[in-house]
Amino acid sequence: TVLDPDRTLREMSSVRRGLGILGGTFDPPHIGHIAAAKAVFDALLLERVLLMVANEPWQKVGHRSLSAPEDRLAMTRAAVTGIDGLETSDLEIRRGGPTYTIDSLEELRLSNPDMDLFLILGADAAAGLDSWHRSSELPALATLVIVERDGETRAEASPEWSIKRVTMPRVDISSTQLRSFAARGTTLSPFVPEPVIAEIESRGLYGLDGL
Ligand code: ATP
Ligand code: MG
Repeated sequence: TVLDPDRTLREMSSVRRGLGILGGTFDPPHIGHIAAAKAVFDALLLERVLLMVANEPWQKVGHRSLSAPEDRLAMTRAAVTGIDGLETSDLEIRRGGPTYTIDSLEELRLSNPDMDLFLILGADAAAGLDSWHRSSELPALATLVIVERDGETRAEASPEWSIKRVTMPRVDISSTQLRSFAARGTTLSPFVPEPVIAEIESRGLYGLDGL
């Protein structure tokens, strides 16, 4: 067995000081998001992982219609209910306007001075990181965690980043696919947790009304 002294110490002392941030549109949240957040929570022994719901994902706006931030927040809350270590954050919705990760990391840095921040991205999202607003300032604020799905090509990031890689089993689903499932009348189960489906139906999202 290979001993990682750092990890052993953290396990023995049960000191967890890492705060993970998985940003997304969550329209709707699905088991891929949950599995990614949970994989990183476990692998890096984080204190918690925040599913950070974007208010206005500026790279997606204009390309398609988005559910209201409040609806996406409610669905995401339903998705993490009862899952140890996972929480939802409404920081970006409260801030309003176009969502820039740099603003969120700066706020989290100030409100959690004794915690290490871990910015979690799927390999697809990591590949676009350099196009983000003020991207060169991000590496000073957080460690980048690239979640790699089995069989996926390795995503590279600019050398300024301190990077950790976490692998997870492939969960081949996206919110885009799920919205088209709903439009066709195909069930979202088992890709969307039951409490999220209940939230979707009670809010009448994606044309579903539970009837
Ligand atoms: P859309 O289809 O609208 O792009 P999405 O399902 O890809 O939605 P995003 O909000 O784009 O979800 O992604 C949020 C984060 O979750 C990104 O870092 C992305 O890489 C990651 N992610 C999305 N789907 C999966 C999945 N199936 N497995 C692991 N990570 C995922
Ligand atoms: Mg996506």
